[in-house]
Amino acid sequence: MGEAVKVAVRVRPFNSREKAEGAELCVSMDRNSTKVWSRETNYEKEFNFDYSYWSHDGFIEDPTTGVLKKDRPGSKYADQQMVFNDVGVDILNNAWEGYHVCLFAYGQTGSGKSYSIVGYGPNKGVIPIACEEIFNRIKNSGNPLVKYDVKVSMLEIYNEQVQDLLQPPERRVKGGLKVREHPKTGVFVEGLVQQTVSSYEEISQVLDDGNKHRTVAATQMNATSSRAHTVLTISFTQIFHEEGTGKPLTRKQSDINLVDLAGSERASKTGATGDRLQEGSSINQSLSCLGKVITALAKKSAGGAAKGEVIPYRESKLTRILQNALGGNSKTTMIAAISPATFNFEETLSTLRYADQVKAIKNKAVVNETPQE
Ligand code: ADP
Ligand code: MG
Repeated sequence: MGEAVKVAVRVRPFNSREKAEGAELCVSMDRNSTKVWSRETNYEKEFNFDYSYWSHDGFIEDPTTGVLKKDRPGSKYADQQMVFNDVGVDILNNAWEGYHVCLFAYGQTGSGKSYSIVGYGPNKGVIPIACEEIFNRIKNSGNPLVKYDVKVSMLEIYNEQVQDLLQPPERRVKGGLKVREHPKTGVFVEGLVQQTVSSYEEISQVLDDGNKHRTVAATQMNATSSRAHTVLTISFTQIFHEEGTGKPLTRKQSDINLVDLAGSERASKTGATGDRLQEGSSINQSLSCLGKVITALAKKSAGGAAKGEVIPYRESKLTRILQNALGGNSKTTMIAAISPATFNFEETLSTLRYADQVKAIKNKAVVNETPQE
C-alpha cells in the first residue's frame, strides 16, 4: 500500500546555441503522454506521468514584467504559475495537514531544473512562490488559536561533502558536516543552522544569502551551472491552542524539502578534465546511488524485493539525507527536466526512464502531530 511518488516532466525552449545550430526537436507531449524519438536509430518511446509541462514554445515575454506567458489563449505553453498551481499548491496543502513533503528536480545540466525549482528574475519558480504563499496563508489564517513557526536550512552536497549554505564560506567545516541518525527523529545533519523566519522578505533574504554561498564551477555544457546538489528545508510547525485558556495543546510539524540536484549527465559529455572530472565522478557516485535506491524502492513497492533486502541509502550523502523523502514518511514529487533537442536525446531518454521508475515508488506518509510538551 502507500501513495506513489508523483512525477512531472517539463521540456524547455531551445537555448540560443541550439537555435543557432538549427537543433531538431525530439519530444512531443499530448495530455499526460510524453513521446521521445531518435530519427537516426528509428526509435520511439512513450511515457506517461502525473503532469506533463510543455514549456518549449507558444510563449512570449511580457515586455513590462519580463514574465514568460502564453502567446495566445489556446497555447499549451506551461508557465511557472501553472507548475506551481499543481505541484506547489499540493506541497503547501500537505504541509498544512502535517505531512513531510519533498520536491526534487532531476535532469541533465541546462535542462531547466533550477528554472522550475528556483526560477530566474521575474519568472519565479516553486520555491519563491511557495515561500510567498506560506506567509500569505499564515496572514490570512484568521485563527488566533493557531501559532506558526517557520525555520529554514539550506545545504549543498559537493564532492560528497555537506556544507551549510547559511554559513559564509570562511566558516565552512573542513571535510563537511556529519550526517547522523537520531533513533526517534531520523537522519539529520549535525550543526546545520536553522534560521527562524517570520515574513516573505526575511525568507527571501536568507535564500539569497544562501545562494551566494553556493559552489559554482564552469563546465562546457553550462557556464553558470552548479555541480552540486542543493537542499532547502523549510520546517513548518503549527501549534494549536485551547480555546478559553489559550494553553498550547498539540503541534503539527512538516519538513518541506526542496531539492535542486546536480546535472545527471555523464562526465564525458561535459568535457570534464582534472578537478572537474573529480567532481563529475562524485556527482555520478551520488546520483548513481540515487539510481540504485530508486531501483530498489521501485522493486520493493512492486512486491518484488527479497525479504530483508537493504535499500542502499548509506552509500551516498544525498540518499541518506533524502532517505525519508524517498522511502518513508513523505509525500514526494519529482520534476524531470528535459531538453527538447535531438543532440541530447540519450540524456533525455535516460531522465525519462529514471522518472518512470520513480513513479513506481510508494511511500507511507503520516500526519506528524504530537501533544505540546
Ligand atoms: P539546470 O538547472 O537544469 O542546469 P536551468 O534551469 O539553469 O538548467 O536552465 C537552463 C536555461 O534554460 C536557463 O537559461 C533557463 O532560463 C532556460 N529555461 C529552462 N527551463 C525553461 C522554461 N521552462 N522556460 C523558459 N526557459 C527555460
Ligand atoms: Mg541548475
